Amino acid sequence: MNVVNYEILKKYPLCNRCFGRLYAKLLHATNIERGEALKLFKLLELEAQIKKAKEENKSYDEELKFLKCIVKSGIEKTRLLNEIKEEDIKKEVCPWCRDIFNKEKMEKLLKKVENLLKNYEFETFLIGTHLPQEIKDLEKEIETEFMESIKQEFGREFGKMLALRLNKSPDKEYPDIVIHINPYSEDIYLQINPLFIKGRYRKLVRGIPQTRWLCRKCRGKGCEICNYTGKKYPTSVEEIIAKPFLEATGGIDEKFHGAGREDIDVRMLGDGRPFVLEIKEPKIRKIDLEKIAKEINKDGRVEVLNLEFGVRKDKVFFKNTPHRKTYWALVECSEKISDEELKLLEKELENRTIYQKTPKRVLHRRADLERIRKVYKVKTSKVDDTHFEMIIYCDGGLYIKELISGDDGRTNPSVSSILNKNCICKELDVLKIHDDNLLEKID
Ligand SMILES: [Zn+2]
Ligand SMILES: [Zn+2]
Repeated sequence: MNVVNYEILKKYPLCNRCFGRLYAKLLHATNIERGEALKLFKLLELEAQIKKAKEENKSYDEELKFLKCIVKSGIEKTRLLNEIKEEDIKKEVCPWCRDIFNKEKMEKLLKKVENLLKNYEFETFLIGTHLPQEIKDLEKEIETEFMESIKQEFGREFGKMLALRLNKSPDKEYPDIVIHINPYSEDIYLQINPLFIKGRYRKLVRGIPQTRWLCRKCRGKGCEICNYTGKKYPTSVEEIIAKPFLEATGGIDEKFHGAGREDIDVRMLGDGRPFVLEIKEPKIRKIDLEKIAKEINKDGRVEVLNLEFGVRKDKVFFKNTPHRKTYWALVECSEKISDEELKLLEKELENRTIYQKTPKRVLHRRADLERIRKVYKVKTSKVDDTHFEMIIYCDGGLYIKELISGDDGRTNPSVSSILNKNCICKELDVLKIHDDNLLEKID
């Protein structure tokens, strides 16, 4: 079997490194070594053929032509140099690498990258190499099954030099910074990956939304209605938490990912709700989480706990896992309620499946669907003739205000339908998000 396709050298004067790269997955050698060795072997064969042809007085034009191609591609170790005119073997630039591995060129690129990086604190990086279309096309044409793309080799070599120079490590999975380079055009741009901080928050007051809420009229630009703030609510859990992080990191923006959300008028108590804060393009990454937690907690409206550094996939986890919850609710009834009725309510709602059409109050922004959720346990305690408190342990995603009111029959069964009275939720708190043990019970 013919493993090595020497014919390609007749068409393209591939340098030793590039010719060796065509077979990079064979032999434990550098691309340059492999390319040189393979070319030497072909030169040796051609020399022998030419020698024989001379002895037998035969023509050896073809062989000599081939030999010239190989010499031209960067290897001169032949005894037949005296038979070749100098202009026949004038070195051409290799069409694949176009000399991008040249020491001075690499050095120039390194300096450029170093200069761009000096504004950012980071520990890990990744080189993203980008090839011009014509190089990609050429690679496709000359490809062998043992080849390595020039992208890989450049990325690796440049990465090694940069790591040594800056004393940082390459990281394929979670690099702080990705350095995108086109070594042919010498275009560089930095992708500063976000810093992720995860933890839990408690919202101790009613009346603030979880995330930034833009003014519906101007969508953030500022208008008369929003008093030129661009916002419908002056602050949010997101803003209270993010502010000191943005200041400490010099990030340009942030995104807040909560494991679900509570309504504006609902408090989040107990051990809090998990969240991930994403700080975009941070300049500083080594921040003192404890110090920032203290600063946030001084606010009095929002508290953070269990802060730690996270990674990108944390936010996906949050989006996809609905957790069971325990709520506290204050219920107001249109008529007097008795202790017996409350006992009945507890019994009726235990392990009860609830059919819930999208609440009327959110219909303007959500599709009209029916969801099926379960209530596992309810505890009640009477406050006065028309008020009682309720502790509800249920599936995540159940709308509690509608579980109580019935939402004109759109939630079934409901506290209203079971008691056969109009009931409304006056106050609501989240007491616990059961994100570790789904079998936990309330007592
Ligand atoms: Zn080359
Ligand atoms: Zn506005």
